Amino acid sequence: MIIVFVGPPGSGKGTQSDMVKDILDVDHIATGDILRDEIQRKTPLGVKIKDIIERGDLLDNNDILSALETRITNIPDEKIVILDGFPRTIEQAKLLQEKYTGPLKVLHFHIDETRLRERLLSRYSCANCSAVYNEKTNPTKEKNKCDACGSAEFIVRKDDTEEVFEQRMKNYKEKTQPLIDFYSRNGVLYSIDADKNKDEIHKEVMRFIKENVKKGIKA
Ligand code: AMP
Repeated sequence: MIIVFVGPPGSGKGTQSDMVKDILDVDHIATGDILRDEIQRKTPLGVKIKDIIERGDLLDNNDILSALETRITNIPDEKIVILDGFPRTIEQAKLLQEKYTGPLKVLHFHIDETRLRERLLSRYSCANCSAVYNEKTNPTKEKNKCDACGSAEFIVRKDDTEEVFEQRMKNYKEKTQPLIDFYSRNGVLYSIDADKNKDEIHKEVMRFIKENVKKGIKA
């Protein structure tokens, strides 16, 4: 089954996916991570999309599908796959429906825009293992030491700047918010309050999984 995580940039989708992965046997498909990896490896797709991603625009559907298609077809019903970052538009949701006809639920991370700006501009990640942190909501336990691998080197994503944030929010409002109504009308949407710390959000995510996906697990 597929669980789509939908929410604006910086709403905690990636962090929560990692926390679920630590507990349950799930696959996590994070479109942004896959695309950034293409850029880092300088593949033909990576070279083509670098500027688009760095200015905060959405890629066209063919490019997204070329990176994702093999990963979203043939998912067995009993396997749980978290899709984080795709679909981001109603058009992409329809493309997903063509490729995948199994069970699907959507978890919407709801958070106010001002809080988001604050959170996104405080985000950083480990240069070695890519673990994601946030100066305000989720700092490393020890200053300058990655909790996961111990590295002291950190980086900030090129698209986590004020200017690019505005562009990404504009895209979110215009293209992704209609997707929330689309899934709500389809009766598969569940919203959580993502303006909390990561442990509180995690409880809500696990409650959603317990009630909608995997009945019988401890939440
Ligand atoms: P993310 O890490 O999910 O915030 O994605 C980073 C960037 O990758 C976005 O700002 C877009 O430029 C691009 N991207 C990721 N997923 C998609 C998608 N489903 N459709 C179009 N562009 C995407």
